[in-house]
Amino acid sequence: MTPRFTRRDLMRLLGAAGFGAAVSSTVVPEASGDPPAAAPAATPRERQPIDPTTTAHPLPRLSGGRVIQPERTLPVLHETDVLVAGGGAAGFAAAVAAARAGARTAIVERYGYFGGLWTGGLVLLVISTHALQGDQRVQVVRGVGGELLDRLGRLDRGIINYAPDRINPTVDPEATKFVMDEMTREAGVTVLLHCWAVDPVMDGREVRGVVVESKAGRQAVLAKVVVDATGDGDVFAAAGAEHEQVLHAIGLVHRLGNVDRVTAAELERIGGKNPRRALGAATPHPSVTWVNLRGPSADALDVADLSRLELDHRRAIWQRVRKLREQTGNADLFLLDVAPQLGVRTSRLLAGTHCLTFDETRQPRAFPDAVAVGGAQNGKRPAWPIPFGVLVPKQLDGLLAAGRCVCVDNRLIEDMRLIGSCLTTGHAAGAAAAIAVRQGCRPRDVDVPALRKLLADQGAYLGA
Ligand SMILES: Cc1cc2nc3c(=O)[nH]c(=O)nc-3n(C[C@H](O)[C@H](O)[C@H](O)COP(=O)(O)OP(=O)(O)OC[C@H]3O[C@@H](n4cnc5c(N)ncnc54)[C@H](O)[C@@H]3O)c2cc1C
Repeated sequence: MTPRFTRRDLMRLLGAAGFGAAVSSTVVPEASGDPPAAAPAATPRERQPIDPTTTAHPLPRLSGGRVIQPERTLPVLHETDVLVAGGGAAGFAAAVAAARAGARTAIVERYGYFGGLWTGGLVLLVISTHALQGDQRVQVVRGVGGELLDRLGRLDRGIINYAPDRINPTVDPEATKFVMDEMTREAGVTVLLHCWAVDPVMDGREVRGVVVESKAGRQAVLAKVVVDATGDGDVFAAAGAEHEQVLHAIGLVHRLGNVDRVTAAELERIGGKNPRRALGAATPHPSVTWVNLRGPSADALDVADLSRLELDHRRAIWQRVRKLREQTGNADLFLLDVAPQLGVRTSRLLAGTHCLTFDETRQPRAFPDAVAVGGAQNGKRPAWPIPFGVLVPKQLDGLLAAGRCVCVDNRLIEDMRLIGSCLTTGHAAGAAAAIAVRQGCRPRDVDVPALRKLLADQGAYLGA
């Protein structure tokens, strides 16, 4: 029996994507504190008995100490032109670009919000927004990413240090999530949150979608082109694309509250050359700072390492904040939050048709197939063109990569993984995926002049 996608599922999906009011929400604060005297305002509804045979599927079984996964047919949750796996800076930009180019576009994200490390990881400082073009400083993060920054600029406390002549702004994570939500909705992207992409769906050597795992179990999302923006290359790795793994420092960011109540005299008690630095870096809220943490080099694909670091880092942060309170003697200072997302800097890197090297960016090489431009961390080095090949797997078809997992040499990782570069490579991958759908060709065969024209029409910066 072929599993079916019911009307109820469809209505839910459309609601999540912002179409109509299938699942709408109005914020009405509930009374907190003492239990209400009367019956609670919200009561459970629509309680239904479930026939367990309708949800059952062939289960993995133990056989001779091995776990055997039986073959099974999966329900198709959704079919689309472009599917983006992962909704971080890169995936968000890819989805919006593809949808704006006219491709039916869906995005699957394992957590409940967009932004990945930028918002969930509380990495709020957008580095590499600018670079030198000749002796002029230009903003290289334009197009979808630039629009997002502009829109944050129009929100109260959405962003600081954002102006044409200023480099590296800092955002508020909730404002950023909000604007990302709005832009994906406006572009008509079908949004599937709380879904892990766990496997590619293959047709020979071509990726034709992904299997997602959610509370509804395993379902397939079919697509003509998949953009792997999971940061860790989950889809291309499972599809058998050539790649490498890099161990890097894994940290955990936190924010402090009431920092504006710490007086100069209290700060002095911390000692050190730059006591204010102990309180972290500024955010759009004068009372809040964000504090980066480097952490040890570890394996971002190993749950044991991830679990250990999560616990160790949280303990270290708690102890540090307690010490800061003691040192300053300021009882108002408090740990506002620890990022819900562990700070994985790098894990898998695609082997692309072009591996961009550090040297190619420091003496910037001109590429006829440049689809994005990288910025300078200090805004004082030349802009460096990013060729299409860093997004294209050597052999695998039906897929492009975007964000921190694209193809670069070791020395360029530190530049390519920055939020600015992730926004621009994401934009490029989404536009390329849409062109591949439009031209009915493999992503690697897209007409590059047509792609560059689309990117320029969408406001991306491609150099002077
Ligand atoms: C501690 C730390 C400090 C940093 N400091 C800075 C800084 O100051 N400035 C700067 O510019 N950059 C900084 N960076 C780098 C930057 O934040 C990230 O490299 C960048 O945000 C990555 O964007 P991305 O979209 O490629 O990946 P991610 O942000 O990792 O996004 C990937 C998304 O995919 C989702 N996902 C992953 N796997 C799956 C799956 N299988 N199925 C579905 N969804 C999935 C994730 O939940 C996430 O939303 C820092 C990074 C770290 C870790």
